[in-house]
Amino acid sequence: MSLRSTDWKAISVWATGVVVALVCLGWILHLEWDRQLVLAADRVVLRWVETTQQDSAILREVLVDRRLSAPSAARLATWRRQGDVDAFALYLPSGERVLASGDLTRSPAALTVDGAQGIGAEAGGERQGLTARILAGQTTTSLYRGGTLDEPEVYSQAFEPLRQGQELLGFVELRVNHTQRVMYTRQAVMRVGAAVLLLLLALGGLASWRILRRVRQQRQAISRVQYLADHDLLSGALNRSSFNSLLLEACSRSAAGGPPFALLCIDLDHFKEVNDSLGHSAGDEVLRVATQRLKACVRETDHLARLGGDEFAIVLAGLASAPAVTPLAQRIVAALAVPYDVAEQRVRCGGSVGVAIYGIDATEPGELLGRADMALYRAKANGRGGFSFFDIAMERQAMARRELARDLRVALAQGQFSLHFQPLFGRDARSLTGYEALLRWHHPVRGDVPPAEFVSLAEEIGVINEIGGWVLREACRQAVTWPASLTVAVNLSAMQFVGDQLEQRVARALSESGLPANRLELEITESLLMSSVDHVLEVLRSLSRMGVTIAMDDFGTGYSSLAYLWRFPFDKVKIDRAFTHNLGHDEKVALIVHSIISLAHSLDIRVNAEGVETPSQMASLQEGGCDELQGYLLGRPQPSEALTHEGISGQPDSAERRTHPRRAFFSTIPMPLPTSRAGPIV
Ligand code: C2E
Ligand code: CA
Ligand code: CA
Repeated sequence: MSLRSTDWKAISVWATGVVVALVCLGWILHLEWDRQLVLAADRVVLRWVETTQQDSAILREVLVDRRLSAPSAARLATWRRQGDVDAFALYLPSGERVLASGDLTRSPAALTVDGAQGIGAEAGGERQGLTARILAGQTTTSLYRGGTLDEPEVYSQAFEPLRQGQELLGFVELRVNHTQRVMYTRQAVMRVGAAVLLLLLALGGLASWRILRRVRQQRQAISRVQYLADHDLLSGALNRSSFNSLLLEACSRSAAGGPPFALLCIDLDHFKEVNDSLGHSAGDEVLRVATQRLKACVRETDHLARLGGDEFAIVLAGLASAPAVTPLAQRIVAALAVPYDVAEQRVRCGGSVGVAIYGIDATEPGELLGRADMALYRAKANGRGGFSFFDIAMERQAMARRELARDLRVALAQGQFSLHFQPLFGRDARSLTGYEALLRWHHPVRGDVPPAEFVSLAEEIGVINEIGGWVLREACRQAVTWPASLTVAVNLSAMQFVGDQLEQRVARALSESGLPANRLELEITESLLMSSVDHVLEVLRSLSRMGVTIAMDDFGTGYSSLAYLWRFPFDKVKIDRAFTHNLGHDEKVALIVHSIISLAHSLDIRVNAEGVETPSQMASLQEGGCDELQGYLLGRPQPSEALTHEGISGQPDSAERRTHPRRAFFSTIPMPLPTSRAGPIV
């Protein structure tokens, strides 16, 4: 981790502070050291004077008699090595120099009164003042740092009066050599200094390490907080709010001449069913794996976000045309189509993709997102597991759907729904066995809205449960007024299986109406089975135990209708009207339909054929052994009050048509389900 400029500033301020403190400390120590040297010199001088006073005869000889005998000269020479004194000079009371210790080496030493070398010569004319200060006992010691060859490195110079009793004999100038003291001290200081420096370096290093560690921890905490603020914790993708800012930024950049981009909205198909049937932790795992797969599909420069639930979005940088985006959209669809292994089950939860392109479809972030969403809606409406690009017609359709949804929400409360009943006949096409209840919506302005247009919308906006509950109650309420041999079939939507209310709703509809359970038939489609096998199986078994019959609707339109026959306790399959329609046109269709009938019969399942419109279709179905016929040829859906129940006689009682032992037998056979189709649970 590199340091920021603010960190460097803090460190340099800290280091400068330390250096300044060290310099100040050094300076103070230096001054104190000089003071100590002067004091030491004073002590040396006093001792020197005391010692030499004992030889006052020699002083008198030199200063008063102005002569110097050889023994005295030899004695004087020893004074030079007294203490740290390495040179001295003797002066007359008048201040003129008489003898310098350097002269003693020249033999015989001559005394030369030398006024020019008198006291205070360097100060020029200061002699009077200086001698007065010496006599007054003031200190005259000064410290010097020598530089020349004949001078010691550091020395002090001091003057002292020389007296015998009250008589002033003269003055002495002493040079105290500090070189050795300085050398010892310097060595000691260097040793201590090195130790202190090492200690300081260690402390500084420790402090820097701690500062760096704290800075790193702070920075990590900040980036963690930033990460939490920007990302969705479950999947690790960007969250909605950071995605919104990112999209805004991408739009402004493109508007200012930056690179164009495409926006992808992605939705996992059947995620809700997985979540509801296998639990939230399984749902979370699917979301995590889906995110990893999406990340693997896009480039480093693209941005992936989870907008909530099973909705994802991707900003594809630099891609601004359908041909450029198509390969990536295909990759995403393929990646999401791979099954997920969660909660010890293999789950299929493919994804659909909607694409909108900046600059072509919209330039405003909100509008672009809305349009990618519309394209996604189209992809889902086209059968899921695919992708769609936005086109302007979607905008109009979306608006129309929004209005329809608004109307649908109030339709139930305003009593705009009713049921029509389409008769079901036995193989002979004459004996009436019951009716299928078909929902009708009469809108005061729109008129009659076909169920194909509003049932899926009702599922989407979450009102199907309410409407389906009403259909159940109304169908039972009507059926109970019919002759007792007639059944009523009610269509169930997959959403009605979500949660655990279906059994209670059915039981309540039966008990409130008084309709025996065996007169109620529930029609389910394969799409329902694709969502959450175990849960639906459980509910169907429980409904079956109540005595209600179960039919598989639109048989043959799905991918693996046959496979489900093994695992579900169906009493009836309803061959889709597309087969019936093609019966007259294609011989192969007749073969298929006849095979389906005999297969179902071999499993003891009855067969209904929907959409019988022509006598030839009917004849073919009768020939194939179809048990029940339904279609415009035999009777259109009609309101309850228009039902005549024509053909009711000669039917076996509905209760006797049940074949419970078979169901118990087949539902216990463990059969593998196909893995090659699209759908959430395999
Ligand atoms: P479905 O369950 O397959 O219902 C049969 C549909 O075929 C009905 O359309 C019926 O009017 C139509 N039909 C019957 N005989 C013929 C024929 O000879 N030729 C042709 N071409 N069509 C025929 P409808 O009433 O428009 O219902 C369409 C779909 O709406 C139904 O398909 C069903 O899936 C759904 N639906 C209807 N009522 C309900 C309901 O109460 N709840 C749920 N969840 N779905 C319903
Ligand atoms: Ca049906
Ligand atoms: Ca059908």
